[in-house]
Amino acid sequence: ALDVQYIQKHLVAHPDFPKKGIVFLDIFPLLRDPVAFEALITHFLFHLTSSTIPKLNGGKIDVVVGLDARGFLFGPILAMRLGAAFVPVRKAGKLPGECVSVTYEKEYGSDAFEIQKDAIKPGQNVLIVDDLIATGGSARAAGELVSKLGGKTVEYLFIIELLFLKAVATLDAPVYSIVKTDD
Ligand code: IMP
Repeated sequence: ALDVQYIQKHLVAHPDFPKKGIVFLDIFPLLRDPVAFEALITHFLFHLTSSTIPKLNGGKIDVVVGLDARGFLFGPILAMRLGAAFVPVRKAGKLPGECVSVTYEKEYGSDAFEIQKDAIKPGQNVLIVDDLIATGGSARAAGELVSKLGGKTVEYLFIIELLFLKAVATLDAPVYSIVKTDD
């Protein structure tokens, strides 16, 4: 579709960033163009309101969880438009108050994610958003945090999905992405 082409056109590949051998896909050029940014939000909203999200069972999304840091750029916009709460998942040590933590493996060593304990109530329907899914490690960790608070992750939403890493099979809910790439 035209909107997908327009969104895709604004994603820029940077070979050998942040280190040799990695092709980094940059979403910031998309945010520089207000029409592309609007197309992104509208595409996501169209998907979220017009297609069936099986795990919702006809209910509504109560909470949008955005991942540190690029999930913070469009997660709050989606939450506001959906009439849902926005909740951040942050790297350990950044959030005040009582938090729950989970550690997850990265390419080199491990990292920890946190969420504020009172941010999700048991039984709430949660949508997890980030700019890109690679191995799925970050998404999986966020899903664990949601589960620890008794929330139900109904879908994982991304702009870009790296298909060759086959992350989808390791998650507890379906993935929706706009641009799927195999290289
Ligand atoms: P994963 O945990 O391996 O799925 O990696 C996904 C996380 O790394 C997300 O938070 C992404 O923002 C970030 N990331 C990995 N590769 C890229 C990239 O090429 N562009 C933008 N973000 C990336």
